[in-house]
Amino acid sequence: MLFSDVAVLFDRIEKKSGRLEMTDILSSLFKRTDHTEIGKLVYIIQGILVPPYEGIDLGMGERFAMQAIASSAGYGFGEVEKNYKKSGDLGDSAETLLTKKKQTALSTTQMSVAYVYDSMIKIAKSSGTGSQDQKIKILTELLNNSSPLEARYIVRFVIGSLRLGVGDPTIIDALSFAASGDKSLREPLERAYNVCADLGFVAGFYDKPDRIAAFEVEPFRPLMPALAERENTPEAIVERLGECDIEMKYDGFRLQCHKSGDKVELYSRKLEKMTHMFPDLVAEIRKLKAETIIFEGEALAYDQKKKRYFSFQQTMHRRRKHDIEEASAELPLKLFVFDVLYLDGKDLTNEKYSKRRVKLEKLFHDDILMPSRSSRVSTSLELEKIFQESIKEGLEGIIAKDLNAPYTAGKRKFAWIKLKKSYGKAVDTVDGIIVGYYLGQGARAQFEFGGVLLAIYNSDSGRLETVAKVASGFSEEEMVELRAALEKIKTKEPPANLDFKIEVDFWVEPKYVVEAAFDEITESPNHTCGMHDGKGYALRFPRISRMREDKGIKEITTTDEVEKIFRMQGHPR
Ligand code: AMP
Repeated sequence: MLFSDVAVLFDRIEKKSGRLEMTDILSSLFKRTDHTEIGKLVYIIQGILVPPYEGIDLGMGERFAMQAIASSAGYGFGEVEKNYKKSGDLGDSAETLLTKKKQTALSTTQMSVAYVYDSMIKIAKSSGTGSQDQKIKILTELLNNSSPLEARYIVRFVIGSLRLGVGDPTIIDALSFAASGDKSLREPLERAYNVCADLGFVAGFYDKPDRIAAFEVEPFRPLMPALAERENTPEAIVERLGECDIEMKYDGFRLQCHKSGDKVELYSRKLEKMTHMFPDLVAEIRKLKAETIIFEGEALAYDQKKKRYFSFQQTMHRRRKHDIEEASAELPLKLFVFDVLYLDGKDLTNEKYSKRRVKLEKLFHDDILMPSRSSRVSTSLELEKIFQESIKEGLEGIIAKDLNAPYTAGKRKFAWIKLKKSYGKAVDTVDGIIVGYYLGQGARAQFEFGGVLLAIYNSDSGRLETVAKVASGFSEEEMVELRAALEKIKTKEPPANLDFKIEVDFWVEPKYVVEAAFDEITESPNHTCGMHDGKGYALRFPRISRMREDKGIKEITTTDEVEKIFRMQGHPR
């Protein structure tokens, strides 16, 4: 597949916003793409080089990309900079400047998708002295062989701002259409993706339904973490699950731990490798009596003498301030293990929770790696009692587990149901992603920060929808810090996959997740969350309660959840 053909289709995708049209364009593209290239193409569409847990970063700053554009287009650096200031998009500038040059150029070599992708990998992998020159050289070569349109996308990709606005659900639909002409493969493809968190890898088998259906968990290929639904009373939980296990909900750092022999890797809930942050836990995991294992737990510090848990924030703060080794000695971590997903060559994700728990309790019983506290209940009264205990101990609440449910990778299903402190009372929270911010007015003007626009995720459409403009909750110091962080990720255009009705002073790359507390969900014509009859859902009296650095865009609250909270308030829909 020629990259020039792909660039033409990217241009068409950018001009369409309808999901059906995008699916159509992509499925015809996939059908024409060779098997050896399709994974690479899928990564490019996702705007990534490799799945996040492989930790390969392109490491190409804008200034280096500008140097490559300058030398390829035959302009001085200053001219590129000037054009970029005017256009606000370095990809557009590369296109404009190369258009002028191409009128006089003699010939170029046509590049395949694989060639472009492999060159990007080379850029990412060149390191050490002289590596920046090497990176610029490879990019210059790519641009020398590019049409202006190809250059637009190559440059945007290299600086991490491709933003085609195509969500993973659209890519999955397109793969299904390419293989079968309809959506029938969507579910197995989605499951395979959730099991390995690597859509490029899955795409390599997209037209082999047997292989997709038999996709299994493997050590060192992290799974998408299962997510919890919510209910607001013990009665509602027992009504739904009947007899169930009630576990303490620890407010720590979720870790997915993989071990094979002596090799151990730890992944965050965003599936980034965190092994280096937790040497104390790694050493303990190595000692486990299991050759290969994947399990999940919540890490947090616990003061044994005072019988007190440290919050996630306190735990991480200590770790950041001190040397990791020092912090490990001073503030020993515990890992409360709550699920086992793979054991000695066997994928356990399709086994019942109750069976997985039996295995878990056999494996974990020491002082550092310990099972999450769990009790079997069959009445709401028993549940309420444990919930109150958890609150007394300073925990967040409980998570109820369906005894018969498999592990629902990447999904918010009723296999896990959380009941948190605030439910049913005045305060509830959502995790939203910041998509833009406002300048201050009045007393706040000195900080030039007037709050943020928050969006949540519509998991059916793969789009972001706005739910609140939040201007309070943070101290002045925190606001200054947040504003500085947002300043660095300002963009000229709104995120391509955002549906919005209100404007902001500055759009930003959707990167930071915050927890926002609110009094209730109302309907508003200004927000697009769950838009129906011209009205969407909005948070009433929203305020930021904390940054959720551990959460990524895939873990934010979904439209379905917001709608559910709305219904829980007693509004039928
Ligand atoms: P939330 O982030 O509020 O949606 O709650 C779900 C999170 O609770 C999970 O992602 C885990 O990080 C965390 N958690 C704490 N304790 C448990 C537990 N016993 N079982 C499952 N998840 C837990």
